[in-house]
Amino acid sequence: ATPVAIMVGTGVGASNGILIKTGEALQQAKEIDTVVLDKTGTITSGKLKVEEAGGYQSDFPVDAMMQIAAALEKKSEHPLAEAVVEYAESFRLTIPEITDFQATFGRGVEGALAQDFAAQEFLKKDGPTAVFYAGKFDEKNTGNSVGTENGTKDAATMTKESSESAELSQRKTILPAGTKFYVGNLAFLQEKNIILPEGALDALNRMADEGMTPLLVAMDVNFQEVNFREGGSQEACIQKTWPKETGFLGIIGVADTVKATSYEAIQAWEKMGVKVIMLTGDNRRTAEAVREKLGISEVVAEVLPQDKEEKVSELKRQGHKVAMIGDGINDAPALAAADVGMAIGAGTDVAMESADIILMKNDLRDAVTAMKLSRAVIRNIK
Ligand code: ADP
Ligand code: MG
Repeated sequence: ATPVAIMVGTGVGASNGILIKTGEALQQAKEIDTVVLDKTGTITSGKLKVEEAGGYQSDFPVDAMMQIAAALEKKSEHPLAEAVVEYAESFRLTIPEITDFQATFGRGVEGALAQDFAAQEFLKKDGPTAVFYAGKFDEKNTGNSVGTENGTKDAATMTKESSESAELSQRKTILPAGTKFYVGNLAFLQEKNIILPEGALDALNRMADEGMTPLLVAMDVNFQEVNFREGGSQEACIQKTWPKETGFLGIIGVADTVKATSYEAIQAWEKMGVKVIMLTGDNRRTAEAVREKLGISEVVAEVLPQDKEEKVSELKRQGHKVAMIGDGINDAPALAAADVGMAIGAGTDVAMESADIILMKNDLRDAVTAMKLSRAVIRNIK
């Protein structure tokens, strides 16, 4: 294309919120036959929300599990992490301090308590209300829910019953400073040798089938004995050793919403004869639920960040002209490896730096527009 045609093309793009960094990117966009899409924050809104939470240990109420999860996630910048922290804050839960924090890319986070921590349930009359027995979390799936014989009770019922039963508020498990916790996906917990109790896998799969990302929460009891005290007040606490064979505490289901514009974009690519592949670090079943909803032909799930780049390179080796579209830090290498990398404007700085084109309106239809613009510009010079 002539410099003038490229100037016109980039100008038209810019006025539509499509920032094309180089003339080369505009020319390359014409050749694209395969579009690789990140899921979270790219196809979906990325505004994640905790939808359910269920506990599995009677000595560790789900309220406390959420406090711990939020404490760890407060140190992470992942969109999943934000959702967990926001949830805990919305229930005005105190968030304990964590030391020795460590994040494993594409898997999860870990850290230890900086101070002793009392795991307890909260009563409405005592101030913060935190009842997490979401309706969908039924007994069959959860196994033994905490604080009640029956996990299907809704929040209102639970709160009522809690205030009636003074006993519940007295139960307290005090964990010593240094106790280590994990929040992450199944692969992450397996790496940490955490055993999932019966029913947990079913609950995890059900959440994923509904399109949620399941986060697992666990305490490290496999390599060190966790002593805990139990009782109504600190003084009355009894010294005990965690009696369970597993430190698995429970599951948090985080939901996301697919952008309506993503569906339109995917249909447009199909009409143009462009192949669409979804590439995500998320659970395979979660990815499949989204794939089905959108009619995407191919999905590659549970990929580690470094493997996203490898997938793009592999497609290129097969002779495809590949556009990668993403928003995360973990998408950056793949964005750079693609023939054309496109970043979502609301995404991370790293993604935007690695991309050739930035979609300022966070709308996948603009990626279609960029490709059509490229075709138009090239056609004009002939
Ligand atoms: P995506 O491709 O959807 O952006 P990532 O590669 O960032 O996903 O993460 C993959 C998976 O790793 C997540 O679905 C989640 O299960 C787990 N994970 C990553 N970061 C965290 C975190 N901060 N807390 C809990 N789990 C996490
Ligand atoms: Mg993403």
